[in-house]
Amino acid sequence: MQEDSPVQNENTPDTALPQRPQRTARRNRLIVLSAAALVALGLGGVAVATSGSDRPAPATVSLDAQARAEAANRADRSVRESSTPVTPSVSPTPSPTAVSASPTPTKTAAAKVKPKPKKTTKPTPAWVDPMPGAAVTSCYGQRWGTLHAGIDLALPSGTPIHAAAAGTVTQAGDASDGYGNSVFIDHGNGYLTHYAHQSRIAVTVGQKVKAGQVIGYEGATGDVTGPHLHFEVHQGMWNQIDPAPFMRAHGVDLGC
Ligand SMILES: [Zn+2]
Repeated sequence: MQEDSPVQNENTPDTALPQRPQRTARRNRLIVLSAAALVALGLGGVAVATSGSDRPAPATVSLDAQARAEAANRADRSVRESSTPVTPSVSPTPSPTAVSASPTPTKTAAAKVKPKPKKTTKPTPAWVDPMPGAAVTSCYGQRWGTLHAGIDLALPSGTPIHAAAAGTVTQAGDASDGYGNSVFIDHGNGYLTHYAHQSRIAVTVGQKVKAGQVIGYEGATGDVTGPHLHFEVHQGMWNQIDPAPFMRAHGVDLGC
């Protein structure tokens, strides 16, 4: 701002500075004049175009009244058509409203943008299927006059058996009680799980296991007719309950 002021520039020896405003003024005048000339030319062009489009009408004047009427219609049409290029000077008027309206959608669009929900790593479920994909060959309940105290899950021998929930291994081995190689896991909430007839045991007594951890492999040890996992849930040691509703309540459907 100070550099453009000629009053302050009087103290400076630079004489070229005062001339600068004059030069810019002259340049501005030239721009204005040339712009005016262009506008005038443009108007002239429009006038020429309009008169040119009216020309077909005079050519049909010598014909009869009907032809004249048709010619008038054509001329009217041609005038309307030729007048359409002039309308752009009117059309800019609606655009300000369109511009003023445009901020509203952008504002709503911005308001619609919700903050992205934080991606949480899926936590390991507290309870899992001890042998996923296995076929249920026998449910909990009376069978041949005695209580079948667990669920039989069948897959080929050697299929990994998973801890149904986190806990501590309290028994691991063959106690010669018909269960064969079996594992007990105490889950610390009054419940234990029991995995029987294993071909091989993969944990030891006192070991802490996580939900889904492999504790052994399916087999046919003990009193069995074929390889399967005999899975029990104990509400207190040797108080077997139906595993199906218990596991279902913990999000695992064993199918019984
Ligand atoms: Zn069984």
